[in-house]
Amino acid sequence: MIGVLAIQGGFAAHINVLRRLGVPHREVRLPADLAGLQGLIIPGGESTTMLKLLQAFDMKQPLQEFAASGRPILGTCAGAILMAERVTHPEQESLGWIPVTIERNAYGSQRESFQTTQACEAWEMDAFPALFIRAPRFREPRSEVEVLTRLDDHITGVRYKHFTAITYHPELTEDDRFHQAWLTHQVHGAETEPVEQVTT
Ligand code: GLN
Repeated sequence: MIGVLAIQGGFAAHINVLRRLGVPHREVRLPADLAGLQGLIIPGGESTTMLKLLQAFDMKQPLQEFAASGRPILGTCAGAILMAERVTHPEQESLGWIPVTIERNAYGSQRESFQTTQACEAWEMDAFPALFIRAPRFREPRSEVEVLTRLDDHITGVRYKHFTAITYHPELTEDDRFHQAWLTHQVHGAETEPVEQVTT
């Protein structure tokens, strides 16, 4: 069962992808909704609003515990902003999971929103469509952070341990390969909480 954080932003598009892929899923609004999930998706939207709502819904601590349990989390755009350790332009607090800086609204007004393609060698994907909507960009990843995708000299996708974050929206296209690859590489191959050994 995969959860999609559904307090703000574009969660419905991620739900549609999971439905198309035949993956059991659930909308997550309250701490109890995190129980039993194998992975979580944090959608795009408006990261400042999302942070305020996380606070209002008492979701920050439960999300920190979920992250600490080692279960995979995928963030797109505003979700990626919440996951990065340092947020600039303007500065903002975050959940601080990935040792990288993220600069908000990094593409000027002329290129505020655009569609292009991305390729991800690590996950063996050639060109797949990606929508950038008032997208941020990653900067200064620590050496342990794996770069998954780039656009010219901008880092657009990163992975660190069980955290994956991308600055664009594959879920707003018809191509579900990115989600499929995340499920294959991060969720199915994931290290999760140690299961208690029962000795007989
Ligand atoms: N610009 C938004 C922010 O800073 C993110 C945009 C998006 O999620 N598409 O939160």
